[in-house]
Amino acid sequence: MGEFELIRRYFASAACAAGGEAVALGIGDDCALLAPKAGEQLAISTDTLVVGVHFPTVCDPFLLGQRALAVSASDLAAMGASPIGFTLALTLPEADPAWLEGFARGLNQKAQECALALIGGDTTRGPLAMTVTVFGGVPAGQALTRAGARPGDLLCVGGPLGEAGGALPLVLGEMTAEPSVAEPLLARYWSPQPQLDFGQALRGKASAALDISDGLLADCGHIARASGVALIVEADKLPESPALEALLGAERAQQLKLGAGDDYVLAFTLPAEHLPALSANWPALRVVGRVEAGSGVRVLDGAGADITPRQGGYLHFME
Ligand code: ADP
Ligand code: MG
Repeated sequence: MGEFELIRRYFASAACAAGGEAVALGIGDDCALLAPKAGEQLAISTDTLVVGVHFPTVCDPFLLGQRALAVSASDLAAMGASPIGFTLALTLPEADPAWLEGFARGLNQKAQECALALIGGDTTRGPLAMTVTVFGGVPAGQALTRAGARPGDLLCVGGPLGEAGGALPLVLGEMTAEPSVAEPLLARYWSPQPQLDFGQALRGKASAALDISDGLLADCGHIARASGVALIVEADKLPESPALEALLGAERAQQLKLGAGDDYVLAFTLPAEHLPALSANWPALRVVGRVEAGSGVRVLDGAGADITPRQGGYLHFME
């Protein structure tokens, strides 16, 4: 199978490659052409996944296709952008039809879920890796950046934390668990749900936002730095996760909620006046802390004692 046949069979003919409202020209020419709505800015983000670094050598290509798209789409959600399209740069060691079929199916399914059109890409030979670049539209000046948090704002998250990290020992085959525990965690890892609608609902409300890819504390550190404020995480307000707690126990579960990456849930700061209306429409929203004057990220227990993890990898959360 030649390069063009491969592109045609698995990607150009996929349902997600049929274009979209803001796609003036899709796959097949030297460039795709995007036509964002008048008054919109383009939001663009790119992510690379490399075998052995970002996913295991042996894994289901369908799940990998879902994940490759989801982690990039989540960046659009974090900016409050509405989805337009994406490109796929794929490096393959060989053209394995079974692998390509599974990968393309997972990618296509997630792309359709996210309303992202496949508009082009590149196909090369080498160690397995994939780069997805996503394009979205956001009304000029309304993108959610990391820089607007103000003392007095609430610190919120859009869903459960630590579950993708908790799934890692299952993904790597180091642990097993019964389906009621394993399945929800594995789904979080392999098929993150980019919070695109939620991100758009936060426009004009959230003062700062991002998606949690490196763990709550690390990513809160980005907001604290960019906004010039301190973020306080209240440990007893972290969302409950029955599956995570069943697999690893309460203490380890809390560590993962604070420090594990890969959740792709939104974290944001919010002036309190917006909370009632948002919570009513988005029941997974949780207030997990607050913004104060100062710098850095601190974790407090229910009694207000500072329990910020300070050892090892956590050091870089401190200013
Ligand atoms: P060029 O040589 O102009 O870069 P290519 O031969 O690499 O073009 O690709 C031909 C067309 O197929 C282009 O429109 C490109 O965007 C698209 N394409 C290549 N690889 C992929 C892929 N993996 N997924 C989707 N579209 C792809
Ligand atoms: Mg090319």
